[in-house]
Amino acid sequence: MPFPANLIDGYRAFLHGRLRAEQERYRELATKGQSPEVMVIGCCDSRCAPEAIFDARPGELFVVRNIANLVPPYAPDTQAHGVSSALEFGVVALKVKHIVVLGHAQCGGVKAFAENAEPLTPSDFIGKWMSLMAPAAEKVGPRGDRPLHDYMTALEQANVELSLENLLTFPRLRAQVERGETTLHGAYFGVATGKLSIRDPATGKFEQVAAEEYARMFAQPRF
Ligand SMILES: [Zn+2]
Repeated sequence: MPFPANLIDGYRAFLHGRLRAEQERYRELATKGQSPEVMVIGCCDSRCAPEAIFDARPGELFVVRNIANLVPPYAPDTQAHGVSSALEFGVVALKVKHIVVLGHAQCGGVKAFAENAEPLTPSDFIGKWMSLMAPAAEKVGPRGDRPLHDYMTALEQANVELSLENLLTFPRLRAQVERGETTLHGAYFGVATGKLSIRDPATGKFEQVAAEEYARMFAQPRF
């Protein structure tokens, strides 16, 4: 099969649009290297690209994505750890000032875990990976009478919180957080609504940002 045509078309659009506009910045970043201040830990989900949601310029976000935006706890063993190595690079080499764990609605990974579903393909990895979110599910408790949507939202947001807790198991990062050099944040993107919520560290609740702007935008009649 040939290289996907939509990617070539996309590249053409990039060439005439963003590259033209950002060429100087790309050159500068190539010479000086990257120094993003924000690291984002997001889900692989194709609807939740952090660069799109935050309208990020090249060099602005250091991003690691995995199924269900999970951060495994610190485990300095003999295994290879993708998220932990990205985290180490972000914290030690780039010294990012902020780490954002970005969860989202309709997360397939969280849904599969909630339904205890069999993966679509014979699984060597997903089941074990998703078992990382067991403490979040425990915290949320059984679904009971809750509507599925509410339960899923609670689970997805608890999952963000769990990743934030697990981040603090990394000693070097924890020290940076305690010294106020790095701040951890939770965020949640509503795929269908486009709403973005930020976790209030005082209450643990996710509050919509730019809510007034959002309401104004959708109050406008559409033609
Ligand atoms: Zn997801």
